[in-house]
Amino acid sequence: MNLPDEITLDPADWNGWRTLLHRAVDDAIDDLAQLRARPAWQPMPEPVREALRQPAPVHGSSAEAVYDDVRRHIVPYSWGNTHPRSWGWVNGTGTVGGLLAEIVTGAMNTNVPLGNQAASVLEQQVIEWSRELMGFPEGTTGLLVTGASIANLVGLTVARDAMGEDVPSRGCSGAGALTVYCSSESHSSVDKAVAVLGIGTNQLRRVAVDADMRIDLAALRAAIAEDRARGFRPACVVGNAGTVNNGAIDDLDALADLCAGEDLWLHVDGAFGAVARLAPARRAALRGMERADSLAFDYHKWLQVPYEAGCILVRDGAAHRRASFALTRSYLSALERGASAGPDFSQLGPELSRAFRALKIWMTFRQTGTETLGRLVEQNCRQATWLSERLPRIPGCVVAAPVRLNVVPFRLEPPLLDGAARDTVNRELLMRLQERGIAIPSGTIIGGRFTLRVAITNHRTRREDLEALAQSVEAIGRELAAD
Ligand SMILES: *Cc1c(COP(=O)(O)O)cnc(C)c1O
Repeated sequence: MNLPDEITLDPADWNGWRTLLHRAVDDAIDDLAQLRARPAWQPMPEPVREALRQPAPVHGSSAEAVYDDVRRHIVPYSWGNTHPRSWGWVNGTGTVGGLLAEIVTGAMNTNVPLGNQAASVLEQQVIEWSRELMGFPEGTTGLLVTGASIANLVGLTVARDAMGEDVPSRGCSGAGALTVYCSSESHSSVDKAVAVLGIGTNQLRRVAVDADMRIDLAALRAAIAEDRARGFRPACVVGNAGTVNNGAIDDLDALADLCAGEDLWLHVDGAFGAVARLAPARRAALRGMERADSLAFDYHKWLQVPYEAGCILVRDGAAHRRASFALTRSYLSALERGASAGPDFSQLGPELSRAFRALKIWMTFRQTGTETLGRLVEQNCRQATWLSERLPRIPGCVVAAPVRLNVVPFRLEPPLLDGAARDTVNRELLMRLQERGIAIPSGTIIGGRFTLRVAITNHRTRREDLEALAQSVEAIGRELAAD
């Protein structure tokens, strides 16, 4: 017998929800199938923003009415990263197969901090696949995280803890003045991790790069020697496998040798570039990555898995299991049988409650296969090479750094303008490309000058899209010259 005032969020009418969810699936398929006909990006108009500015609802509305608002006010104004002409920052596009995984994950709504459940088995399987694909040895541990930022944080935590005495209890005072090394091209998530970990960004050495934008090994060696002479404790080198500005890959084999000789931890930030290992023609450039002590990379960028999905691999599994995350709590301990009797992911990273990230990765791999994923990586690299040859045919357009993978930085350099005026032209060019819904490159600074960049991690891009970009750059460049 129910108590008279018991309520639930389950519907009285399941069939009404069935109908609504079927409609949502139909809408989603239509959206995905028609992406190419939509603008690459459009700003959310003020009336729409206004419509969303509401006090927190005290009373619920019908699910249909809420869904209609979502269709009208939210779905059209995404960041655009699913579009065939989305090349800004380093964004993944997702797949229709990934949508299926998200539906299943949403319905299961299982929590994966630990435990005896299919999600644990699948996460271990995905980590095992990742270990093999990245060439790491047995005994490697790994964890699925939101993205490479957290993967870098976890990798650097294990590095810090392995370098100091009892750092989890004593903090960095147990380790001395640790120093960390990366190149001037490394991602800001490395700075964030070093700050969060209490090492301090003053002790992050950003080493100069060579003409190819790879870390200068002589400068790195000199920086380490100088720090040792000054009483610092060099702990870790962060190598790049694909930088955001031009896709540069550091000489990872040389870094592995250097770290072995200096007794330093080698962490590699391979957020997007690491998965270029799936493309046979790109493997040589990544040689040495498999020797890293830890490797961070994303599935949600070049492998097209829906957000959020990143991975950290740690070669010395024992060091990973002893690091700061390894706290045990009575309320989280596993019994020998039952629902708790499984792996404890919460002891390998900062999160306790965790989404079932493994399913969308596992399903993407199963649906697509590593061969096709590798072919798509190769396709994007060739598209980037093609674009790097096409853009200089536009008067005044230059490619601003060597193109080694899938990233093409470029800018207009109108001959009569000085540097500051050129920056204005290129910023305006970028904003017009985006605002007109033509394409989404993003911006950066290279050599002190504002530069557009096209990072192709997009399985929907065709060469005609890049040709359309080139033609628009030329046309807008003429407009700007006339202004
Ligand atoms: C994207 C990126 C990151 C951060 O990854 P998230 O998944 O966005 O957290 C780190 N390093 C590089 C080189 C990146 O491209």
